[in-house]
Amino acid sequence: MTDCSIDLLSLSLPELEDVIVSLGEPKYRAKQIFDGMLRGVAPDGLTTLSKATKEKLAKHTVCFFPRIERKLVSAIDGTVKYLFGLSDGHCVEAVVMKYHHGNTICISSQVGCRMGCRFCASTIGGRVRNLSPSELLGQVIVAQRDTAERIGGIVMMGIGEPLDNYDNVIRFLRLVGDEHGINIGYRHISLSTCGLVDGIRRLSAENLPITLSISLHAADDETRSDIMPINRKWNIESLLRACRDWYAITGRRISFEYTLIRDKNDRPEDAERLAEVLNRALRTRTETMPIHVNLIPVNEVKESGFLHSDKAAVSRFAAILEKRGIRATVRRTLGADINASCGQLRRAHEAEQA
Ligand code: SAH
Repeated sequence: MTDCSIDLLSLSLPELEDVIVSLGEPKYRAKQIFDGMLRGVAPDGLTTLSKATKEKLAKHTVCFFPRIERKLVSAIDGTVKYLFGLSDGHCVEAVVMKYHHGNTICISSQVGCRMGCRFCASTIGGRVRNLSPSELLGQVIVAQRDTAERIGGIVMMGIGEPLDNYDNVIRFLRLVGDEHGINIGYRHISLSTCGLVDGIRRLSAENLPITLSISLHAADDETRSDIMPINRKWNIESLLRACRDWYAITGRRISFEYTLIRDKNDRPEDAERLAEVLNRALRTRTETMPIHVNLIPVNEVKESGFLHSDKAAVSRFAAILEKRGIRATVRRTLGADINASCGQLRRAHEAEQA
């Protein structure tokens, strides 16, 4: 790949048409190429293109799909986990979850992560690089082709912090929601962030009606700063202010992720404080924002030393939130037999390669 190669999969149909015309090809070729890529076929594999056209494309453009390095299928619930190899040899993970209403894919946004959350496996080796729009889209296309089933929803909850790769993620969201493209409705897309307030504020103004997930994980600044370094830059108050403004601007609900760590953030007083903080920040007299908290017993990562809360502590926590008017669900674990949470397969793979 040369630096000036045009990355075809990062383009919208009109942009691709401009490129194709500038290469001296008829405009209709763009649609053939575009539809081929949506099916996971690069121009080189299209029988409708002449050898001369393919050679011209190979000289000026590039089209790469993530390679399936490993694939694990859960015997319990059919969850599929992919380890995808990228063009430079780095790997990311994606997971296809099968629900009654359809399939949803959890994709990665960066190779590694620099946010430093102490319970998370993805951040241990730091951030290597951002994923391009085509690498974000490629995960969806390859998984859809491989499972031979339509993917109807996306959660950006894999490796990486999506708002730390802002421009590429926005381009990806516009491409994936485009009616000419994969055409997944924004209401079926959610983006999860550890709390980059500047990014949340920018996102509010993009007119993308997606669902926002906030990884909160603690209700007091001392605990949150201890487990999530980003809290030292933007504390809970500034984060929740951005959430309230997001709701006022977009009308789209927010869900809060709260990972339960034994004796760290799972006591009854933590639940009381969480309810109080959320109710105070997000429910004014004139506005009642629906609040939903997802409780996730922490997935134990060897390096962190954190243990997950026991069942009784989880139910007690949920009951306190409900009593204070906050909907709480305990996240169902999918793919428990294939280690489906993100970050761990990539780490194991890199350790094998080293
Ligand atoms: N960077 C984004 C998205 C990736 S993480 C974010 O922070 O939201 C997706 C979710 O998994 C986040 O809520 C994250 O806090 C959570 N998570 C990470 N490691 C975990 C672990 N070991 N156990 C449970 N949840 C974890």
